[in-house]
Amino acid sequence: QPLLQICDLHVSVAGTPIVQGLSVAIQGGEVHAVMGPNGAGKSAFAQALMGHPRYVVTSGKALLDGKNLLKMTVDERARAGLFLATQDPAEMAGVSNANFMRLAVNAKRGDGNGLPVLQFHRHLMTKIKELGIDPTFAERYLNEGFSGGEKVRNEILQMALLKPRIAILDEIDAGQDIDTLKIVAKAVQEMRTPEQGIVAITQGTRLLESIAPTHVHVLRGGRIVRTGGKQLALQVEQNGYDWIDDPPREGS
Ligand code: ADP
Ligand code: MG
Ligand code: MG
Repeated sequence: QPLLQICDLHVSVAGTPIVQGLSVAIQGGEVHAVMGPNGAGKSAFAQALMGHPRYVVTSGKALLDGKNLLKMTVDERARAGLFLATQDPAEMAGVSNANFMRLAVNAKRGDGNGLPVLQFHRHLMTKIKELGIDPTFAERYLNEGFSGGEKVRNEILQMALLKPRIAILDEIDAGQDIDTLKIVAKAVQEMRTPEQGIVAITQGTRLLESIAPTHVHVLRGGRIVRTGGKQLALQVEQNGYDWIDDPPREGS
């Protein structure tokens, strides 16, 4: 059974169909890159999976470990092991990163006996060090006044702590410097286990070089129009998307 299985997913935003028949299956240990022009529906796909209320799933299936994601609340999806990193995560004034992350990690454990504060703090600092993140992050307020690069590092830190089943990275590499990309790549490598999978939405091959995707998909018009390996990403980098023919739609 795939870790994540999406079948013929359709998503509308404000009544307009945006994702239009997207299907993909992700097995443990796989890293799927999703590329595609602006407006292709990449973020809509990611947000709909996470359960953002603006992105309405009108038909199709989305299963995580065989469980129907579409029936779950956002919280339940997170606890089931779905994680989404974006470049504009929510800011929370007055909530420190350390506290937020401890609550998130403990909520995910869901066994009523979360890590004690000190033990969690030690764990957090170890991860921060491993990823080469600024240690003052822990005590700063969640994403408040963070630079773009800091937000991305913080998202990656959360991913590393939560150890999700499936992590979706929505263009978090766009416009980031080499050091931030290295942290992202390192955290992705750490997620390459048989129990985890990654969906990396990206426009660039710079990140792809370091994360070595097992699959590359091109999304256009709300569905996957081509799937290949690393070579496909290089072709896209050189030639853009126009040379890829859309496959015929079902029933047309
Ligand atoms: P991508 O991430 O591939 O660049 P998006 O998923 O952000 O594309 O957007 C796909 C389409 O959906 C675009 O045409 C965009 O204008 C539209 N769209 C996305 N979000 C909204 C929204 N909140 N309200 C209205 N239209 C939206
Ligand atoms: Mg997007
Ligand atoms: Mg967008």
